[in-house]
Amino acid sequence: MTKFHHGVVWFRRDLRFDDHTALLWANSSCRKISLLFIFDEHILQRLPSGDRRRAFLDRRIMNMKNRLGQSGGALHIATGKPEEIFPDLFRNNRIDALFFNEDYEPYARKRDKDIKTLCEQLHIHCESLKDQVIFHPEEIVKDDQSPYKVFTAYKNKWIAKLEMTKTETESFDDAMTKKFTVLKTGRQFILQEQFVKPVESVAWPAVAENDALKEWKRFYDHHIFEYDQCRNIPSTEGTSRLSPYLRFGMVSIRRIVADLLRQPPSVRMPFLNELIWREFFMMILYHYPYAESACFKSEYDAIPWGNRDEWFMRWCEGRTGYPIVDAGLRQLNETGWMHNRVRMITASFVVKHLHVDWRRGERYFAEKLMDYELSSNNGNWQWAAGTGVDAAPYFRIFHPVEQAKKFDPDAAYIRRWVPELKEVPVKLIHQRKMYTRFYAEGKSFHSGYPAPVADLDEERRVCLALYKTGKNLRR
Ligand code: FAD
Repeated sequence: MTKFHHGVVWFRRDLRFDDHTALLWANSSCRKISLLFIFDEHILQRLPSGDRRRAFLDRRIMNMKNRLGQSGGALHIATGKPEEIFPDLFRNNRIDALFFNEDYEPYARKRDKDIKTLCEQLHIHCESLKDQVIFHPEEIVKDDQSPYKVFTAYKNKWIAKLEMTKTETESFDDAMTKKFTVLKTGRQFILQEQFVKPVESVAWPAVAENDALKEWKRFYDHHIFEYDQCRNIPSTEGTSRLSPYLRFGMVSIRRIVADLLRQPPSVRMPFLNELIWREFFMMILYHYPYAESACFKSEYDAIPWGNRDEWFMRWCEGRTGYPIVDAGLRQLNETGWMHNRVRMITASFVVKHLHVDWRRGERYFAEKLMDYELSSNNGNWQWAAGTGVDAAPYFRIFHPVEQAKKFDPDAAYIRRWVPELKEVPVKLIHQRKMYTRFYAEGKSFHSGYPAPVADLDEERRVCLALYKTGKNLRR
């Protein structure tokens, strides 16, 4: 039913046309539609120059624009502050409705609240819709309406609710483009062609909407069956590599879950479990926004972190002398992605063996990851540091050599990213006592590869003492 004269669909972290909730709602209720993407200056100013994600975003936006081709109005691109752009657009066009998909991060919630208030003042209908998750953070709560803090209990409720929910999807209909309308602007916000500038190319992730779905189909058709066995082995293509596509909303989460539901529980559950972790961490940050910068468990706020710059730099550069850690950081620095098992190993290492405040590691990942997502990054870092909700206990300390032996038994991953070790026998790479000896002698396997940065048995003792001191200081 057409209720509105001219609706605007504001794209943010939902960069697709397929099964796009806000777009579908606008289509069903507006006579004319304009599509808008804003390069938000509040976000841009936090990105380092030459940022990979920015380059990806430029290309993705250009691709969306081209996909719509010549249809009038197509995708409008503006640069500036949303709180300045919308008043201008509202003044210069007869807009009576605004639609966007919900974003649960603290900054986004504040921004959206302000825009909603502006719409209310101007009597413009403003509709925010659930799109990037299956369940809104307030939909999965305990019987007494309080948020869950234990993943398994949250997951059980999530699955029970999914069984009672119909997962429907809807494709983009090209006929919709007939409604697309040009926006006028009174100020210097650059709309349309001029903005998108040529940028350095990014090899991965691919930028076309079809590419994201193709990637998912490839994984779904060929690898979903072995996900449970392979997902911890970083040398294999055992995981979906969907994370940047989910981050930027290039695939619909409902499409993925609808596909998974066609598989028996034994096949779908291991993968679904990871998608539930994603929503669990979003839910945690939504209900406990203080965790963005503080320990979720405040008893750890007083840990006297060592924070030795030299050790931290060696970790960032992949030169710690512990091969699996170095392989992970080098993969991250080179590609913008790191395998989940290795993210866990490297995070544990820098916090528990090098005594670096988890927030510094978190920030480094935030700068480098193509799939950077505040809630997942923060939640997983706090999990690894033992400071988070339902986290690994602080005294559980991964030994990087033991982890490598278990998850990279033939050292294929290590050798791929640390080529200096190509000729070193696997048995030696996985021999724990070699590292103690090398550390004592200031040596390594190879002249081009650094000696171990620290002795792990010693640093393990230091870590336990630091966590205890921190806890005692809080008392
Ligand atoms: P798959 O194994 O194919 O999983 C499918 C999807 O499930 C992922 O794309 C992701 O959306 C979700 N998922 C998987 N594992 C997790 C998890 N542990 N927590 C939350 N969601 C998960 N993931 C991010 O998307 N952004 C981040 O910034 C991020 N930072 C991390 C930091 C640390 C220290 C650790 C240990 C993990 C982090 N993760 C993050 C989670 C996980 O490592 C990635 O989601 C995963 O490696 C992405 O690869 P994939 O798509 O092939 O995963």
